[in-house]
Amino acid sequence: MNPVPRRLRERLSERSERQHQILVSKAAETDQLRSKVAELETEMMEKALLFDEERVKMMKDIGSIQIRLVNAVQENVTISIEAEFKAGCLHRELNKEKDEKNELKKKYNILKDQVLLLESFENVQKVKEMVEKERQRANIARRMMQEAQELLREGQEKLEGNPKPWRLCNICFEEYSEHLEKSPRVLSCGHTFCLSCLKSIAGTNVLKCPVDRTFIEIDKEDLESLPKNFAVLHM
Ligand SMILES: [Zn+2]
Ligand SMILES: [Zn+2]
Repeated sequence: MNPVPRRLRERLSERSERQHQILVSKAAETDQLRSKVAELETEMMEKALLFDEERVKMMKDIGSIQIRLVNAVQENVTISIEAEFKAGCLHRELNKEKDEKNELKKKYNILKDQVLLLESFENVQKVKEMVEKERQRANIARRMMQEAQELLREGQEKLEGNPKPWRLCNICFEEYSEHLEKSPRVLSCGHTFCLSCLKSIAGTNVLKCPVDRTFIEIDKEDLESLPKNFAVLHM
């Protein structure tokens, strides 16, 4: 057998020793890594558990918030329904008041019209009374004037002795008076005679003026409706 040289044997032994040490250290390193992996796994599981708890808590919170939300929505709905109902009531009351106000206004207008009517009626009565009073006053004044003219005429006649010529009928030469037969009547030609003379000179339906000889168509029966010449009586 060929003996292994001592030197070589030594070198081989050194080499295997070194390899062995490397192997040992690698094994230790592997163990370390394994335990680290185990630690990490544990940590992960814990974290996962913790996360689950938080998730459950959050879900619960979300649930309660949702319940509160639903409650709040229901409350809002109730409030808005109540508010709507109250608004409706107020609106109806307001309309009722408006109707009552309109009714009162109508009644007021009717009363006002009645008052105005009564007032105007009173006014008409007052005006009528005033007119009547004025008429009476005017009548009294006219009568007084006539009396004064009468007195004046009488006084003048006494002074002069004879009545004025225009107070005498040109046919019978008698004085005109208020008496029907002796009342002065004006013809359409403008001349004046007493009624009795006109009756005596008139034909059945024609009359000839003795002054200017014009023919005047008039029925004998209508002579009394000829206008009276008051100016002659009161001059
Ligand atoms: Zn006469
Ligand atoms: Zn005449």
